[in-house]
Amino acid sequence: MRADVAVIGAGPAGSTAAEIAARAGACVVVVERKAEIGSPVQCGGFLPENFELRELLPRAMLPESLYKIPDRCILHHTNIQRIYAPSGGSKEFRVQGRVLDRRTFDRYLAYRAAEAGAEILPATRAEVVSEGVKLSGHFSGSLRPKVTIGADGPSSGAARFIGSSKKEFGICLEYEMAGVCADQDAAEMYFGSRCAPGGYAWIIPMGDGVANVGIGVRKSYLGRVKLDQVLGGFIKDHPVASEKLKMGKVTAVMRGLVPAGGSPSVLQKNGVILAGDAAGHVMATSGGGIPLAMVAGRVAGEVASEVVLGKAQARDYEHRVKAEIGAELDRSVQIRRMVDAAMHNDRLMDALFSALEPPQMKSVMRGRVPDLLGVLREVVGRR
Ligand SMILES: Cc1cc2nc3c(=O)[nH]c(=O)nc-3n(C[C@H](O)[C@H](O)[C@H](O)COP(=O)(O)OP(=O)(O)OC[C@H]3O[C@@H](n4cnc5c(N)ncnc54)[C@H](O)[C@@H]3O)c2cc1C
Repeated sequence: MRADVAVIGAGPAGSTAAEIAARAGACVVVVERKAEIGSPVQCGGFLPENFELRELLPRAMLPESLYKIPDRCILHHTNIQRIYAPSGGSKEFRVQGRVLDRRTFDRYLAYRAAEAGAEILPATRAEVVSEGVKLSGHFSGSLRPKVTIGADGPSSGAARFIGSSKKEFGICLEYEMAGVCADQDAAEMYFGSRCAPGGYAWIIPMGDGVANVGIGVRKSYLGRVKLDQVLGGFIKDHPVASEKLKMGKVTAVMRGLVPAGGSPSVLQKNGVILAGDAAGHVMATSGGGIPLAMVAGRVAGEVASEVVLGKAQARDYEHRVKAEIGAELDRSVQIRRMVDAAMHNDRLMDALFSALEPPQMKSVMRGRVPDLLGVLREVVGRR
């Protein structure tokens, strides 16, 4: 099969890259190991509204598929982000958001890529080898593309092939729960060493008494405790959350990894370009990766099609993607590392929580607040 550009993975990064490269005239093949694109889901689906995204990523050009999402992909809308401290106290700020049906959304993105002319190979595994890309599964054979886009998620084989490794991950477990009394207007985050060591627990309403309830933690904080015990404890024993969840029934179980350490320095080598989770494009403060994956996918698709036409080189990708999302990504990692110190100690976390006003908290979640170090010093000094 002929391919100028091979895209591995039909998630938000891969399908966006494929659509953009195909629209620019490249012959694109997308390889996806899932038999049904978008399923099983491994995501909470929370996505801020467009004006919030423009504030979050002010240097990025959002792809059309991100700012024009059809209603059928949206399960629910929220207006508030509420954050709970380990003590159970809460603060909230306005964030207008949507909760996506990731199954429908990922398919919508793949349909757009197909409409633009990309070939899609579902139920097929891709392996990057020195001669190109080897296919196995429903479709088999090999591709010899000019450019390969590794959009194959957090455990990316493409990233391993080019020696680009991510070291820090959050491990996540989430339930879809029906019959819950979650606040339908708020996406909630819960901090505390018991309910989410080194991370946070969340309740994201999906409408009609259904919610996505999950935890994302770091292994180094978890010790020997099992993830399902921690999530079970949050649902059953958390003084605030358990009241909302006590009548809930689990209707789906999802697991996944989230890169938590930002982007490695190597994002391309030998004609292989990484985008999305494969490249660590996730806000370390929130674990949100959908918008960054799609911006990176757009840049990867543009660069790949220009390489095919002889107008750019694969290495141009690194500075072009960093110019759009690099500063926000780097700052989110710096902030997460500062907050890490407090994550070991609930009393310190409570003190930090009381020292931050809601607008400052919103900035922290967005990877801003240059004076967070000052706030932390003040908190530690007061103790
Ligand atoms: C539990 C959980 C909750 C989350 N909640 C949110 C949230 O609420 N909001 C948010 O913004 N982000 C959230 N994220 C992060 C978000 O899901 C990711 O950042 C986003 O999906 C990244 O898109 P991607 O295209 O880079 O990777 P993915 O969506 O992971 O897509 C990669 C694709 O590559 C395919 N693939 C992998 N290897 C191969 C191979 N060898 N051959 C063929 N195909 C392959 C996979 O099957 C997959 O379809 C969450 C993540 C997790 C784990």
